[in-house]
Amino acid sequence: MDVGRHPNINLLAYSEVEKVEGQAGDFRVTVRKKPRYVDESKCTGCGACAEKCPTVTSDEYNLGLGKAKAIYKYFAQGIPSAYTIDATICRNFQPGKKCGICQKVCQAGAIDYKQEAKIFELSVGAIIAATGYDLFDARRIPEYGYGRIRNVITALEFERFLSASGPTHGHVYRVTDLAAQEALPEMEKVCQKAVKGLERYEKQFSMTSDEFYGRYESGEFKGGNEEYDKWAAAVVAARKATAELEVLQKKVESIESAHRLAFIQCVGSRDIRFNKYCSGFCCMHAIKEAIIAREHDRDAQVYIFGMDIRAVGKGFEEYRNRGAKEAGVHYIRSRVAEITEGKNHTPIIWYEDTKERVVRQMPVDLVILSTACQPSASTRRVAELLGIELNEFGFYKTASYPPLDTTRPGIFICGCAHSPMDIPESVAQASSAAARAAQVLAGSGTMRLAS
Ligand SMILES: Cc1cc2nc3c(=O)[nH]c(=O)nc-3n(C[C@H](O)[C@H](O)[C@H](O)COP(=O)(O)OP(=O)(O)OC[C@H]3O[C@@H](n4cnc5c(N)ncnc54)[C@H](O)[C@@H]3O)c2cc1C
Ligand code: SF4
Ligand code: SF4
Repeated sequence: MDVGRHPNINLLAYSEVEKVEGQAGDFRVTVRKKPRYVDESKCTGCGACAEKCPTVTSDEYNLGLGKAKAIYKYFAQGIPSAYTIDATICRNFQPGKKCGICQKVCQAGAIDYKQEAKIFELSVGAIIAATGYDLFDARRIPEYGYGRIRNVITALEFERFLSASGPTHGHVYRVTDLAAQEALPEMEKVCQKAVKGLERYEKQFSMTSDEFYGRYESGEFKGGNEEYDKWAAAVVAARKATAELEVLQKKVESIESAHRLAFIQCVGSRDIRFNKYCSGFCCMHAIKEAIIAREHDRDAQVYIFGMDIRAVGKGFEEYRNRGAKEAGVHYIRSRVAEITEGKNHTPIIWYEDTKERVVRQMPVDLVILSTACQPSASTRRVAELLGIELNEFGFYKTASYPPLDTTRPGIFICGCAHSPMDIPESVAQASSAAARAAQVLAGSGTMRLAS
């Protein structure tokens, strides 16, 4: 919010850097602002367009756990609060198709299907790359079952479950139970349609479907009217749909919150096959998520499986202990070998208890994988654009002193673009990088303050 309103900050959202020329104190940066097909200066963020948009897709922000529309706002607090059309799925952009509903309902007249990308050049004295991180793809460890066993999720997905604005409004369910809840309205529709289909025959032959089917089964109508065979098939289909609906309804009625939760630490971190380094923040976010889960559900039993808990930071060890004392979190010193799927989609964790030196198993409702922090997908491309080097782990290379200087003068970095770190550390580094940039600007005379 503050950044959006600050007189000295120009926020160029939905934009990408295409070219960087020049040197410290005098860089020329070519920027490409992608078309939103919505005029940012007119859009009030009311959401009337998304409400009426007929194109439904999976919600990227909620990691596919909810639904979004072809015209969307990535997340509620985004700045600017303007909507964006996803031209890859919007009907108006598909050959031979038309829509235009959002343009009709938008009272602000903000929709502009003809909007084009804008290319422009900026003159800047210094550059800070803060391109962050991406999470390790847990599918690369197939023995943990992510993507195959549906009740195995990532910590980021679990974070969305815990969020009041998330797909489950803060309730924690097994993914398979959620799927049953989501399937219910569709099944109800199928059932209604099948039952309605019988009404035509009942009217035509002035008989209930039950009476007809009993007599049909006893052979009364066989070999006669073809319509009778069709009616009989429709009765069988409607009965099957009703039975399936009843099973689903019972299942949905009996759904409870996921009570037994297990976090698996170091998924892709501290592992010579993938990333040798510790991802720094996952022990703490697992404890945080465990404590929140217990706040939401006093019956929750939470287990954290890991080689050790790395609570490095002021007050972090106390937070770890609070997790054990107040939220009853069980820390299990272990190495998880495999996760299998038991009855009713129950994940079973097979692990070596490294204290007792025995192999054990534990069935739980949900497994949450704390996946590693890796350089974001664009890091290599951005490094090439900026003419800076990467280190052995693929993060931007920096000097040991000053620690946020890259291999090219005038270009600095901060946050997880440097290495895995939490938000307070990223913010502290951002201030530090800004101070280094200000030194360059002051030296080159390009420092300007808003009047
Ligand atoms: C599940 C989970 C829970 C967490 N919980 C906490 C917590 O409770 N507290 C805490 O302190 N930390 C937490 N963290 C860690 C936290 O996410 C990071 O510390 C923080 O996001 C780092 O900020 P950053 O700005 O460096 O990187 P990012 O948050 O990754 O931001 C980088 C931004 O740059 C953008 N970008 C990338 N490439 C380009 C490009 N080429 N052009 C334009 N834009 C680009 C990205 O889209 C992104 O918006 C958690 C992490 C996880 C995975
Ligand atoms: S044109 Fe139609 S499909 Fe496209 S975003 Fe607008 S309402 Fe949705
Ligand atoms: S922070 Fe914890 S979970 Fe994450 S890599 Fe380090 S030790 Fe493993």
